[in-house]
This record gives sequence, C-alpha cells and structure tokens, in this order.
Amino acid sequence: MSRFLLWVDRVLKRNRIQPTLRGPAARKAVLSALLRSCPACGLELDGHRDWRLAAARVGSENEEALADVVGKKRWDLASRIVDWRPDADVIEYHVLDCPVKSRVSLFKAVFTHALYAHDELVSVHEVESADRQKLVALADDKWIDL
Ligand SMILES: [Zn+2]
Repeated sequence: MSRFLLWVDRVLKRNRIQPTLRGPAARKAVLSALLRSCPACGLELDGHRDWRLAAARVGSENEEALADVVGKKRWDLASRIVDWRPDADVIEYHVLDCPVKSRVSLFKAVFTHALYAHDELVSVHEVESADRQKLVALADDKWIDL
C-alpha cells in the first residue's frame, strides 16, 4: 500500500469518514481536514486540484535537500525527490490549483506514521504566476481533481 493510501486510511479513521471512500474523494477528505479551505480563494476545495510535488522522510538528508531546492524554486529537481517509508514521519509538499483565482498555492505538511498522531500543516504560500506556469506544466497529468 502506498504511503498516500496509508495516510488516507489513517485520516479517514480519525475523522470517521466512510472507509470505502477512495481516490479523489478520499484525497479531498484528507486535504479538507488539513487545510479547511483553499488558501487562495477561501472556499471549499470542490473544483480544485492537487498534486503532490515531493516527499522526504523527516530528519533525512532528503528533507534538507528538498527544502533547499524548494527554497530556490527548482521545481523540477524537487519533483524528483519522493522518499518515504510507512514507518517514518514524512514531509510532503503539495501544489493546490485554484480555478476561482487562477492561482496556485504550495503547502508543506508533516504526515506522522503513528496511527492517531496529528498531521501538521507547516506552511502555505501562494506562488507567483511565472512559477504557477512551471508547476502546472510539470504536474502535467498527475493532478488529482478534488
Ligand atoms: Zn481556491
């Protein structure tokens, strides 16, 4: 089972959401629990789309490398870092595309491996339009519709 599906299962259990919920509906439930609303427009996440840019285990060299390339807006390099294990806490960077404002938000969250530990939203910021274009091109068909 992928890290993401484990995470989905955990959040679904925690929030007592139908465990049969899968795919986009499941991701929407997870992100809604974490973000509450879209950082760009303030509305609920219906009609938005999400792409997991990158992941790194907390405390690993990859975490530092990832923070560095994200800080430098090297989105292509960041997207190649996908490092997680089911028994480790993981930092993930996600891109949320807002159809209302035509803006993209980048958010960073820690997903804990312990079943009922709290995931944590670390930071959220809006991305400038030049970077939005780069990220949208890079995400290509990997978006999940929410
Ligand atoms: Zn929005």
